[in-house]
Amino acid sequence: MDTKRQNMRTNHQVKTKQEKLCPHRKKCGGCQLQNLTYEQQLHFKMAKVIKLLGRFHRVEEIIGMDAPYHYRNKVQAAFGTTRGGKIISGIFQSSSHRIVAVDECLLEDKKADAIIVSIRRLLPSFKLTAYNEDIRRGFLRHVLVKRGFKSGEVMVVLVGGTNVFPRKKDFVKALLKLHPEITTIIFNINDKKTSLVLGERQEVLYGNGKITEELLGCRFRISPKSFYQINPTQTEVLYSKALEFADLQPTDELLDAYCGIGTIGLIAADKVKNVIGVELNKEAVKDARENAKLTGIKNATFTCADAGEFMLRRKAEGLTSDVVIMDPPRAGASKPFLRCLVEAAPKKVVYVSCNPETQQRDLLYLTKNGYKVKRIQPVDMFPHTEHVETVVLMSRA
Ligand code: SAH
Repeated sequence: MDTKRQNMRTNHQVKTKQEKLCPHRKKCGGCQLQNLTYEQQLHFKMAKVIKLLGRFHRVEEIIGMDAPYHYRNKVQAAFGTTRGGKIISGIFQSSSHRIVAVDECLLEDKKADAIIVSIRRLLPSFKLTAYNEDIRRGFLRHVLVKRGFKSGEVMVVLVGGTNVFPRKKDFVKALLKLHPEITTIIFNINDKKTSLVLGERQEVLYGNGKITEELLGCRFRISPKSFYQINPTQTEVLYSKALEFADLQPTDELLDAYCGIGTIGLIAADKVKNVIGVELNKEAVKDARENAKLTGIKNATFTCADAGEFMLRRKAEGLTSDVVIMDPPRAGASKPFLRCLVEAAPKKVVYVSCNPETQQRDLLYLTKNGYKVKRIQPVDMFPHTEHVETVVLMSRA
């Protein structure tokens, strides 16, 4: 079809007057689209998806957010000291390794930001300093906060550059007094020269070291390191679309490929005969099994393997699934995975992607090998950034 003629109207009439401008936008660089109104951002993302995927099918109107601010449920702040000796907390500048002092970010959860500011203010009264990466001295390196928007549970991870945390019990007490909403506090030690936020060792100082969150009727356990979608509101929109496209039947076997902590498969489990999840990350697979138990789901199994190799093995055993939902990382699916998918020939494939460029490449292969694209739905998971998520439905041509 002629993609140029595609209707580019969006429902989002956020008035320019209501748009908030971030005072840090020039230094931070995290929000690439801050100079556009929200409506313009949606046009921009829609045009990007049409350009990349419009050749396969008409692209449905992008689903944006009604209130595109403070959507991030996971917030991390780096700590440092100015030349004048003042402790600052904020975001690493995207172009350098300098910390931009930020107390309130337009994308981040407000409660998480308030907790981080409180921690910074508490430090001097406990004679605690910020860590200095260059000379590898000092104490607090990062703070990570995760909040369950539905459950209300809040996790705070204090990341120290050393394991010496004097008066930690009193510090925890003081923080809880200021923020009784915190449900768990963890001390993580990261003394390595690394850009990773979390180190390997950790000690739970308060609560049970994890939070649970709900998504479309299922419960999920979130630990400091586990991957969880950062925009819970739009994740429900995205996954509901994926399930709508899959049109699951009670007799179906669903393969959830690149399943992470099992999110998509578990919310689909009550609609199908059984779910098989495959995921490379061992910890995530453990979480997925735990999450199935939390919600009382008995018809889902999870395997730790490369998604491509897993499909090959199943093919050799003569096993195929009726529907495949795949949600690969930015690099897209591997060639062996796609080859097996074509040979296994499930009736329907729903492809959730966070990178329309690699999705275009994979769709080219699949449409040359027996699949037809039936629907394309972009969803704005990350307002103010250049990223866009898409759900594509394919069936055997
Ligand atoms: N569907 C999940 C996770 C999507 S992120 C959710 O929405 O929460 C993509 C996942 O693919 C990550 O968990 C990553 O660990 C996993 N992954 C990356 N390469 C893989 C591979 N070759 N085989 C299987 N899983 C892989």
